[in-house]
Amino acid sequence: MQDRLVGSYEEQKRVMNLSLAAAVVLLGAKVTGAVVTGSSAIYSDAAESVVHFLAVCFAVWALRLAHKPADETHHFGHDKVAFLSAGFEGAMISAAALLIFYEAVRQMLSGVEIQQIGLGIAITASAAGVNLVLGLSLLAVGKRSGSPLLRANGHHVLTDVWSSAAVLVALLLYKTTGWVWWDPIAAILAALNILRVGYKLIRESLGGLLDEADLEVEGRIRSLLDQQVNSHGVSYHNLRHRHSGRTHWVEFHLVFDDSLTVGEAHVVATRIESCVADLLKPDGRVISHLEPKSAEHDVEAWEGR
Ligand SMILES: [Zn+2]
Ligand SMILES: [Zn+2]
Repeated sequence: MQDRLVGSYEEQKRVMNLSLAAAVVLLGAKVTGAVVTGSSAIYSDAAESVVHFLAVCFAVWALRLAHKPADETHHFGHDKVAFLSAGFEGAMISAAALLIFYEAVRQMLSGVEIQQIGLGIAITASAAGVNLVLGLSLLAVGKRSGSPLLRANGHHVLTDVWSSAAVLVALLLYKTTGWVWWDPIAAILAALNILRVGYKLIRESLGGLLDEADLEVEGRIRSLLDQQVNSHGVSYHNLRHRHSGRTHWVEFHLVFDDSLTVGEAHVVATRIESCVADLLKPDGRVISHLEPKSAEHDVEAWEGR
C-alpha cells in the first residue's frame, strides 16, 4: 500500500510540474498576444495567466507540504493544506475575473481596435489545446489519488479552455462581421464562467477546512458498521468522520456486554476498525472507544438517534 501511495505522489508531482511549465509558457505567449493584437479578450486571457501562474506556484508548494508525514507538531499530517491551496486558487481566479470584467467594460466605452487577428487566433488556439490535455490529465490523476489540490487545478485549467474558446469565437466573429463588441462581450462571458468556477473551488475548500461530512461516505460507513455490529452482537454510537485531503479519519463508540473482558472486546473492536479502514482505502484511520452496556451514554446531537 505504501508503494502505491508513493507512486501516486510521484505521478501527482509530475503532472503538477507540467502544469507549472505550461503556466510559464502560456503566460509568455498570452502577454505577447495581448500586446500585439490589442484585443480585450486576449488581454483578459493574459491577465488570468498572471494569477494562474501564482496559483500553480502555490499549489506546487502545497502538494509538497501535503505529503510531509505527521511530526511532533502536526499529529494529523499536513494534507489539509490541499484544501487551502484549492481555496487560494479559487480566490485568485475570481480576482482575475473581476479584472477582466473591468477591462472589458473599459474597452466597450473607449472603443476597441484589434490588429493581427491571425496571430491572436493562433496563440489562443494553441493555449486551448495545451490546457485541454493538461486539464484532463490533472483531473484524471486527481480523481485517482483523491487529491482536492489536483482536482482544483484541473477544474481551473479546463475553465481556461472555455475562456480561450470564447476568445476564439469572438475573434472569428469580429473578423467576419467587423462588429468590435464581440471582443469585450466574449471577455465578459469568460469572466462570468471563471467566477462560477472560483466560487465552486472556494466552497469546496471551506467544506474541507471545516471538516464537512461527506454524506455518501457516511452512508457507506454506516451500512458496514450496521452489518459488523450485528454479526458481533455489539452496538455503536457517536460516529464521527472527517476527510483531511488524503486521509479519512473515523471514530465511534462500541458498546459491549459487561461480561466480556477488555481483551475479548478489544479483539472485536480491532476487527471492526480494520473493516472500516479497508472501506476507506487508500488511507483510512479508524479508532473506537470501548464501553460496557451498563455505562453506555450516547447524547451527541449530530447523530440524531
Ligand atoms: Zn488559469
Ligand atoms: Zn459512548
